[in-house]
Amino acid sequence: MKKKSIKTGYLEKVKPIQNRVWTDKEKAIIYTLRESKVPSPEIAQKLKCNITQVYNITRLMRSGAKHKCFCCGRKLTAIEMLQKNFVKACNKCKKAFKKYKKERRLEAIEKGICCYCNKRKATPGYVSCPKCVSATHRRRVAEGLCGQCGERPPHKDGATLCEICLRKNEARIKLKRG
Ligand SMILES: [Zn+2]
Ligand SMILES: [Zn+2]
Ligand SMILES: [Zn+2]
Repeated sequence: MKKKSIKTGYLEKVKPIQNRVWTDKEKAIIYTLRESKVPSPEIAQKLKCNITQVYNITRLMRSGAKHKCFCCGRKLTAIEMLQKNFVKACNKCKKAFKKYKKERRLEAIEKGICCYCNKRKATPGYVSCPKCVSATHRRRVAEGLCGQCGERPPHKDGATLCEICLRKNEARIKLKRG
């Protein structure tokens, strides 16, 4: 009988979650476990992800902990270090991402494909596909922000939208009903 490696043995048992949205808390768990020398297949099993994701997140978190830009590896300035995210980037790289994202978004809108995944067709009248709408929504709610605009905190405990978005939606429904 062929002996199974840890990797294939693990892959049989765990089905990684598709289109995963990682919260800061999960990233922190992976990083701390890795830093305390827990084997990555074990972590992957625990968090239902694949080993590559464990490696990637650890690498990004490590550069953030060393106050380095995750993209170019440059040491961050005192102001750049103030950013809340665990994974930090320098202002130059951030600007480049922003420009790239904006270009990609405009191109996707023009072609009528989802501007988040750049794969599936966008819902007519919207800029995203049904799958990405819910993924973005879930991520924002997990981060304690309004699922619709991602700018303000939810209206009250248990709500997923902020007061302004709730009012906007109400007005839109009223308009539709006439
Ligand atoms: Zn950089
Ligand atoms: Zn999409
Ligand atoms: Zn909102």
